[in-house]
Amino acid sequence: MKFFLTPIRAVLISVLSASWAMPALAQHSHGKGSLQLSLNGDVLQGQWTMPMEALLGFEHLPKNAAQTDAMNQLQKSLQNASYFIELPTESKCQQLEAKAQSDMFQGIKGKGHSDLNYEFKFKCANPQMLTKFEFPFFKSHIRSKQLKLEWVSQGSQKSATVRSSKPTFSP
Ligand SMILES: [Zn+2]
Repeated sequence: MKFFLTPIRAVLISVLSASWAMPALAQHSHGKGSLQLSLNGDVLQGQWTMPMEALLGFEHLPKNAAQTDAMNQLQKSLQNASYFIELPTESKCQQLEAKAQSDMFQGIKGKGHSDLNYEFKFKCANPQMLTKFEFPFFKSHIRSKQLKLEWVSQGSQKSATVRSSKPTFSP
């Protein structure tokens, strides 16, 4: 029997390692997210995309109670956009909306990868005081490494890469 098993096992191992080596989707890179942030008058609006792997450590539907808890906790935390982004107190911003979407939240079995799509909106009494943004989520989700940020305000644009080692952005 040994004589036959060895070559079969070798084939299986090479098939498995080939699937592990498959590259991730072009716009989906583990640990890396993107954020479009814009200020129009007194309304600050953002769109954040992040691989779920960076937030939960898995991208499939929860397989046990701990994973279900982690996913529910994330969904709950995101009801408050300050979980993701911290604005200067002096800007006196009030959250108007926050919407977290993912096929995982809807219980849809994905094709191996899954993203969080997050939209939020604030109305600010002192928008001129929006001189610095902080991203506290990096501390709670240590698999998150960076955020490609695009800032738009009054016709001016700025791009930046915010890293977990220094999670702030100043327009
Ligand atoms: Zn993925």
